[in-house]
Amino acid sequence: MTRYIDVADMQQLVMQHGAARMMAEMADCIREDFLRWEDFDKSPRTANHSANGVIELMPVSDDSLYAFKYVNGHPKNPLQGLTTVMAFGLLADVATGYPTLLSELTITTALRTAATSAVAAKALARPNSTVMALIGNGSQSEFQAIAFMTQLGIKELRVFDVDALATDKFVANMREFTDSGVVRIVRCASTAEAVRGADIVTTVTADKTNATILTADMIEPGMHLNAVGGDCPGKTELQADILNRAKLFLEYEPQTRVEGELQQMPADHPTHALWKVLAGSLVGRDDAEQVTLFDSVGFALEDLSALRYVHALSQELSIGSTVDLVPALQDPKDLFGCATAKARAANTAKAVRPLLRKVA
Ligand code: NAD
Repeated sequence: MTRYIDVADMQQLVMQHGAARMMAEMADCIREDFLRWEDFDKSPRTANHSANGVIELMPVSDDSLYAFKYVNGHPKNPLQGLTTVMAFGLLADVATGYPTLLSELTITTALRTAATSAVAAKALARPNSTVMALIGNGSQSEFQAIAFMTQLGIKELRVFDVDALATDKFVANMREFTDSGVVRIVRCASTAEAVRGADIVTTVTADKTNATILTADMIEPGMHLNAVGGDCPGKTELQADILNRAKLFLEYEPQTRVEGELQQMPADHPTHALWKVLAGSLVGRDDAEQVTLFDSVGFALEDLSALRYVHALSQELSIGSTVDLVPALQDPKDLFGCATAKARAANTAKAVRPLLRKVA
């Protein structure tokens, strides 16, 4: 049977285990898998574009686990009461192809994206970073805020969104942390105001356009930029000049060249693989004055890490159910027998009923 985690199960996992703890543990899984980078069979995701958005399939495997994620990006969805990003995915056993886990991945994507951002920032931001600007206060924002507070020690969040209601929601959701003094939130009137004096700048806006959320004049020496929102062709957040100034780190180059901020630059623009920095084979930040940029687009390996983590946690906490996603056959060659078993049982019952009546 395939383990099944629906949205209610994921809510239960987050409630019982805590979002901060889940993101810290997911970050460990992502780090572990990035350190085994060469073991994975990788490819850029397959994207189907339309006027309003994109639908993507993201596969990856090693010699024991296979994972894929279905995910969309439709920035106008909130106008119809739907989230911009929705996802589900699957883990399978490579030896047999048997699907072991089918899971919601909308909440999980937010957890894994923030966990990945934190992994990158831990390796690249100045170690004494305490102030983060957070531009875009939609679905992903609280997850980013909590991961950076708990994993990097961010104490002040300078927030801005063109939609004031999104910031209201963010502030309300973060009350537990502000009331207990873990973090101070400063509502800003513009991106420029939010970014001023920040150690880390996270952009997590959604618009299917080449936006310039950050312009070169906003960037101060030593900043770490965590650019999350630009993640498909024609959808970027940073002015190209910033990429000339920053040392750029990425997940999987063939995908980021097409989808990331990097799409704005010539094919020979220098890049640095995050996994190599984590493995210690590449230097991250060169000095305290350098501007570092994590050009995040979201890579399938992070979803494999998240799925294997969710699988283990759901088993440990006995949350979730099982589903017959593939048939279990007594004779593995008798698929027809399985397909028609119910019909045959019903026909037998129909045939037996008159006989029983006769006997009676
Ligand atoms: P969302 O629609 O819930 O929130 C986006 C917010 O950005 C909205 O509140 C919107 O008002 C705000 N915004 C738009 N333009 C702005 C601007 N010019 N200045 C300030 N704020 C602005 O979307 P979400 O689910 O939070 O996702 C945000 C982005 O992150 C999307 O583009 C999504 O595709 C991307 N994303 C990336 C990854 C990754 O791994 N890199 C993972 C998940 C989502």
